[in-house]
Amino acid sequence: MSGLVSTRDSERKEVSYLDALLEGLAPDGGLYVPTEYPQIPLKELGLLRWGPYVEIVLEIKKRLVADGIPDADFMALITRAYSPDKFKSMHGNIVPTRPIGKDLFVQNLSLGPTAAFKDMALQLLGQELNYELGRRDKNLLILGATSGDTGSSAEAALKGLDRITLFMLSPAEGMSEFQKKQMGALSGGNIFNVSIEGRFDDCQDLVKEMKKDPEFAMAGAVNSINWGRIASQVPYFVSGYLQVVKEVGEPVDFVVPTGNFGNVLSGYVAKMMGVPIRKLVVATNENDVMARLIRTGFYDPKGMKVTSSPSMDITKASNYERLAHDILDRDPVMVQLYMEEFSRHGRVCLDDYGSGPEAFAERGFFQGTSTHQDRLETIRRVYSDTKIIIDPHTADGVTVAYKTKEDDGVPMIAMETALPVKFENTIREALGFIPLQDERFGWVSSASNDEGFYKMKPDVEELKSHIRRCIEPQKMKKMKMA
Ligand SMILES: *Cc1c(COP(=O)(O)O)cnc(C)c1O
Repeated sequence: MSGLVSTRDSERKEVSYLDALLEGLAPDGGLYVPTEYPQIPLKELGLLRWGPYVEIVLEIKKRLVADGIPDADFMALITRAYSPDKFKSMHGNIVPTRPIGKDLFVQNLSLGPTAAFKDMALQLLGQELNYELGRRDKNLLILGATSGDTGSSAEAALKGLDRITLFMLSPAEGMSEFQKKQMGALSGGNIFNVSIEGRFDDCQDLVKEMKKDPEFAMAGAVNSINWGRIASQVPYFVSGYLQVVKEVGEPVDFVVPTGNFGNVLSGYVAKMMGVPIRKLVVATNENDVMARLIRTGFYDPKGMKVTSSPSMDITKASNYERLAHDILDRDPVMVQLYMEEFSRHGRVCLDDYGSGPEAFAERGFFQGTSTHQDRLETIRRVYSDTKIIIDPHTADGVTVAYKTKEDDGVPMIAMETALPVKFENTIREALGFIPLQDERFGWVSSASNDEGFYKMKPDVEELKSHIRRCIEPQKMKKMKMA
């Protein structure tokens, strides 16, 4: 069992999984990675094949969490995270694969409470955080910024957890009606929404500004650079693998709709742990920085384009640093130099660091891109072949699967990262109609989209006093000692 180190720390000081969970980003600005990838032998993998998903989660996470949460406690957390009142299942499976072509599958990761794959990680992360805070008798203030899915997913995961208070900042303009209504309805108790007159960047800047004040420096984060999120996404790659192979040991390819590089990195961790994954195909939309990087070795973000798969609209992909750490032979000094050059010049080339684009293929990474027109055509094609309606992000993945699938009998799984209910305009454009409303989200259309938000200008002092007003003094005291 192994601890975690920061990608940039040359002293390689080890921290535990639960410390990293509470901390988020490492103090030196690096990201936490395991000192080595724990292994799961094929024989043990085979034993998980016919069991429930929660058993896979326990077996995988036990290997990734060295801090010794007793098995019975861990299983209780996992069972609560993925309980049937939160996750819909198909034939008892909450991460089911369905065929959409010859040796081609989609794996649904969006059956959680907010219909986005982010629920898979955040539900478990919330349980683990609350458990550990209980053991340490501490409370935690979490400050988050969201432009879309992360907000409601984090709120649904942390709602009602007694040790945690969440303030989620979101821009007044730019989020969809559905997203606003979902978040508005989740406010109350330990969940506080703050609507900022400004853009997403203003929200992020406010969070950074707050952390400079010692009173708020200990605030936690639940964004996708948190190692706990990456670790909690590994088990569904294992489950997808076990669902589609004829014999355990045979190879499988995955295609992953990619934004911040968190989801596909979890697939890489599964591969490094010994799951026979052959290819990890990174699918991007018009914001193709990661596809170009894998093709050329140049990390060279351009301005962001707003697309019809908005959760993949990114310029930088923060989690890439974790892969770069492996590519640069786990040398923290090289990682520092590489990331410093990147932040100084806005671009950096692997060739200048003794590596190159071949480093991706060697580790199983391939790429493909998709456009708005591709998304529409793929949504139509999948519907006409199978009657399954996929969302625009999933359509980016399936487009790339159609383009890159080899006809060699190796199964390929495209990850389904959201449900179409959240993106009705694009579905209507593709199909001329929208899917039947899932009864779980029926309430959203009738909810108000104004309630449940405290509105303010991007002013850090006002935000501080708002937070002080909202938190009970008793709770605040324990937070300062966190
Ligand atoms: C967040 C998100 C993505 C991107 O995932 P990353 O882990 O950031 O690469 C893709 N699709 C949907 C629907 C998302 O919400």
